Amino acid sequence: MINHLILQKNWQTQLSEAISSIDELLVILKLESLRSQIYVPTHFELRVPRAFVAKMQVGDTNDPLLRQVLPDQREQIAVTGYVADPLAENSQNPLTGLLHKYQSRVLLTVTGACAIHCRYCFRQHFDYQSNLPKASAQDGIIRYIHEHPEINEVILSGGDPLSVSNRRLFGWLERLEAIPQLTTIRLHTRLPVVIPERLDAELLERLASSRCQIVMVIHCNHANEIDDTTAQHLQRARAAGITLLNQTVLLRDINDDVETQVALSQRLFAAGVLPYYLHVLDKVAGGAHFDSSENEAIALYWTLLERLPGYLVPKLVRELPNRAFKVPVDIYKLR
Ligand SMILES: *Cc1c(COP(=O)(O)O)cnc(C)c1O
Ligand code: SF4
Repeated sequence: MINHLILQKNWQTQLSEAISSIDELLVILKLESLRSQIYVPTHFELRVPRAFVAKMQVGDTNDPLLRQVLPDQREQIAVTGYVADPLAENSQNPLTGLLHKYQSRVLLTVTGACAIHCRYCFRQHFDYQSNLPKASAQDGIIRYIHEHPEINEVILSGGDPLSVSNRRLFGWLERLEAIPQLTTIRLHTRLPVVIPERLDAELLERLASSRCQIVMVIHCNHANEIDDTTAQHLQRARAAGITLLNQTVLLRDINDDVETQVALSQRLFAAGVLPYYLHVLDKVAGGAHFDSSENEAIALYWTLLERLPGYLVPKLVRELPNRAFKVPVDIYKLR
């Protein structure tokens, strides 16, 4: 009944009604017993939409979705090697809001806002305020792409590019589609998983009518994140001609076991999405407790190769500063 009421609401309302009170979250999940251990962060506060909470198991302190969003005291521990800007992105901006690190594609920070705050996020310390393109910077970004003919793909990212209004998003699409050399526009977004209603009819129609190939890379870490509503919306996006891929972050005790990864790939496929990347965690300050060792990741990967058809095995990669691609993890070092 409660779920039913949530799903009636449009995505903007769901976004504005996201839970930001740890107390409220614990009451909904009947986990008041956790209250005494709770840590209330002073930056990158709790943020989780109700539709995502509805996919969590009531009463389960180890719910894999809850663990991704509930602040943890271990975030305060400084661990050597875990830093605020693990990818040194602050130094790779040719223009405010634009990252040109990989030859043929640029990443555009449309907004700093996300619908959900993932505790392991490598951008949790990123200074979006000073890195967001102002309306007046749009011209400069478009000119930069024109002047770099090697760019054929633009990635709309953030934050979450689908947390802005259709009007603002369509404004970017129009400017980008007018650049003749661009073949592909990509969206990196967690919103289809967090508030599936974000894939509304207006958005899907607009993307379907683009002259560019549209690729949507969603971010889903666990099969439980894809309920029937989510799957239906993803299937609609696929029917609109959008190529759907998924990236996952490997997270200790959340999805770092074979059964969880196999179930994730199968559930994604059933919803019309192919696995793309399995990222080893970026070493961000406050995220060390989510990290697994590289050897554990490799052992897991060999088993995935055995268990899944090739098209359901994501690429195991690590992102490194100053590398022009996501670096494949060397799985042969263990076999
Ligand atoms: C991940 C990323 C891309 C896209 O990489 P693909 O391998 O094409 O998915 C582009 N630019 C930056 C800065 C990135 O981090
Ligand atoms: S949705 Fe992506 S960018 Fe936003 S907090 Fe989560 S991991 Fe970070």
